[in-house]
Amino acid sequence: MELADAGELPAYVYDLADLDAHMATVRAALGDIEVHYAVKANPDPQLLRVIAPYVDGFEVASGGELAHVRKFFPESPIALGGPGKTDAELFADVYRLHIESPSEIRRLFTAGRSADVLLRVNLDIPISGASLAMGGGATPFGMDPAGISECIEMLAGQDAVRFRGIHAHLASGLDAPRMLELATAILDYARGLGVTEINIGGGMAVSYADPDSRFDWKTYGKGLASLRRPGEVLRIEPGRSLSVYCGRYVTRVIDVKRVHGELFAVVAGGTHHIRTPATKGHSQPMVIEESGEPTTIVGQLCTPKDTMARHVPVSLKPGDVVEFLMAGAYAWNISHHDFLMHPKPAFHYLGS
Ligand SMILES: *Cc1c(COP(=O)(O)O)cnc(C)c1O
Repeated sequence: MELADAGELPAYVYDLADLDAHMATVRAALGDIEVHYAVKANPDPQLLRVIAPYVDGFEVASGGELAHVRKFFPESPIALGGPGKTDAELFADVYRLHIESPSEIRRLFTAGRSADVLLRVNLDIPISGASLAMGGGATPFGMDPAGISECIEMLAGQDAVRFRGIHAHLASGLDAPRMLELATAILDYARGLGVTEINIGGGMAVSYADPDSRFDWKTYGKGLASLRRPGEVLRIEPGRSLSVYCGRYVTRVIDVKRVHGELFAVVAGGTHHIRTPATKGHSQPMVIEESGEPTTIVGQLCTPKDTMARHVPVSLKPGDVVEFLMAGAYAWNISHHDFLMHPKPAFHYLGS
């Protein structure tokens, strides 16, 4: 309401105290399982500052993210991954390099580089119930077991490129029991190679349909602790499930109209500020102050894809403030800000 009075809408509002409490809960559930925050979920420095004390490092997917994290946390361990690394990325001095193909190993050799590498495996195991699958079939992510074997052969008998272990990030949107099944398969595979450092990725489930539900970190942490054998280092790299809850996107209604029987509310801003509902094809969860006739909430862009939420039972009139939840991950930073040249949102941080 204060932001609306100050004319500062649309705005992102991040609750840093809430993020801090969530991070403390996750950390406590994980014991000595290592955690790297996947920076691509939300690289906002204010969020990174809150997250940093609870994690063992950061996972970055580009040279841009690497430089960004280094600027704020010069001492923090960083793992660099992602398909399509340029020379600058492949040859960066990082704690762990996640290798995506045999040719990345050849390029390291040719350039005479040293590195500590995890080989990213795409295991051919069925992955049901995932919202996105990065593995379990032909995808551009990581290597199949034949590719991994090729790398291991190349890495034998030299010590510049050190084979530290296995990395996998096979799916996202899985609940704790399914994530543990996946972890079991990855661990079986890694142990078969005699490896003791295993990064089992991110992708912990987040429910946009039920903003109050949370991934069961306790079950997951206990499960991982019982899977882990003495001497093994287990690491995860979640993004969305850590930062999504602390962000809200707040805006106001510009117009309300009925077209061919359907009620629309047009809000300031829209999916060029928060692309999440367009990319996921869902209704972004929102606060409903007063219930009413099912209303489709759209943004200011000239495309039917600029839909924030469909058929929401809410009563809205021009000037009303609308508050969208779960806007702390894959939201602002994945959006096409310049389309139609509307103004950018404001950013506010609570509890810093
Ligand atoms: C995106 C990504 C993650 C984080 O995934 P979330 O779904 O945000 O938890 C972790 N590891 C890799 C390799 C990724 O590409």
